Amino acid sequence: MLRTMLTEMKRQAGDALTQKEDGRARWFYEWADLFLGAFEGKKPVVYTSFYAFPMEILYAADVAPFDFELASSMLLTLPIGADLIGEAEDRGYSPDICSFHRASIASWFRGHFPKPDLMLSTSFYCGGKAKTSEVIAHLFGCPSLLLDVPNEVTKESVVYVKRQLVEAAEKIASLTGRSFDEDRLREAVGHANRARASHRALLDLLKHRPSPWGGNQLVNYSIFSRMFDGSPKLADIHDGFARKLTERIDNKKLRSERHRVFWYAWVPTYKSVLFDTLARHEVSVPVCETFLIHWDEIDERDPFEGLALKCLNDPFVGRVDRRTGLLDEVVDKFGIDGVILFATPACRHSKGNWAIMKGAWADHGIPFLTLDMDIADPRAYAEEQIRTRIEGFIEVLDGPRAAKTI
Ligand code: SF4
Repeated sequence: MLRTMLTEMKRQAGDALTQKEDGRARWFYEWADLFLGAFEGKKPVVYTSFYAFPMEILYAADVAPFDFELASSMLLTLPIGADLIGEAEDRGYSPDICSFHRASIASWFRGHFPKPDLMLSTSFYCGGKAKTSEVIAHLFGCPSLLLDVPNEVTKESVVYVKRQLVEAAEKIASLTGRSFDEDRLREAVGHANRARASHRALLDLLKHRPSPWGGNQLVNYSIFSRMFDGSPKLADIHDGFARKLTERIDNKKLRSERHRVFWYAWVPTYKSVLFDTLARHEVSVPVCETFLIHWDEIDERDPFEGLALKCLNDPFVGRVDRRTGLLDEVVDKFGIDGVILFATPACRHSKGNWAIMKGAWADHGIPFLTLDMDIADPRAYAEEQIRTRIEGFIEVLDGPRAAKTI
C-alpha cells in the first residue's frame, strides 16, 4: 500500500514538473523517490530518523534510507489510520505509546515496510522512537544501533558523539562492502552547508507581512525536508520554494493577516479544522520551531565533529531553555503575537515542558495555547472542541496586550 502510494505521488509530481519547475512538486517527487529507493533492493536499507540522525552520513555511504515514522505518517493520512492504531492495541501495544509508533508497529505486521539491513535510532528528539525502533528491529530480525547524545555540549560530549558517528558510518559502509569514504562525507556536508544558506533565505522571506507561506505545509516541510540533508537536492528544493514565495510577495498574492502565531512541535496527520479556522480568522503561522536553524555551518575539514555538534545543539536535547531561549529573536524577526504548542499525548519530550514554555512567553506578554490533540489517532478528534479552543485563543489575541495565557 505504501509503495503504491509513493509510486502515485512520484507520478503526479513528475507530471506537474513536466509542466513547470515548482518547489512543492519537486519536494514531493524527491520525497517519493527517496522512500521508493528502500523498496528497490538495489542498496542496503538503513532505517533512521530523518530529522535527527545526520543524513549526510547516509548520503555519503550511498545506502537507501527509510524512516518508519514518516512512512506511517503517510499511511495515517488514509482512512485506515484508526484501524492501524487499533490493530497495534489489539496486539498489546498500549495507548500510552505514541499513536505514530502504534501505527508503525501495525504497519510492520501488515507488511507495508521494506526490509531493513540496519536500524539506526537516536536518544534525542523522540525518545519513544528509539524503543519502537528496537521493537521493529526485533520483528525484522535485523541489527540496530542507538546514537546516544548527552544533554550538555562539552569537549567530552563532542568527542563521545563524534566517536559514535564514526562507528555508525563504518557500520553503514560495511553493508555496502566498501569502506566509508570521508571525502564523500565532506561533499555531503558541503551540500548541507549550501542548503543551510538557502534555508536562511527562506526564513528571511517568512518575515514578510503578510506571510507568504506557513501553517500545516510549512510544519510538514520543516520535518520532511530534513531527509535531504547532505543531498545536493535540498538547496534546489529550498530555492524552488523561495522563488514561489518571492512571486507571491511581488504579485501581492497574500492572505490578509491580523495575527502571527509561532508553532511549537508537530501537526495532526488526519484532516482537522485547525489551520482552516486560523486562516478564516486571518491568523497566520509564518514560522515554526522545527524550521528554525539550530546548527552552524559545518567545517568540511572535520565533518564528523560538525555533525556531532549539530546533534548536540538540537533543541530536543537537554534543558527546555533551548526551546525558549530564542524567544526574543523569534518575536522581533517574525513579529509573533501568539503561540500554539501542539501537545499530543505520549510525546513527553515535546509536551512535558509546556508550563515552563508558557511561563517564558507570558514574560513577553504573548498568549500561549497548549492544544491537546492526538497527532495520529482520529478516534480522539473532537472537531467542535478544537474549533472552540482555537476561536477562544483568537479572542485572547484580539484583546488588549498583556501577559495573557489560556
Ligand atoms: S509525536 Fe512525539 S512521541 Fe510521537 S513520534 Fe513524534 S516526537 Fe515521537
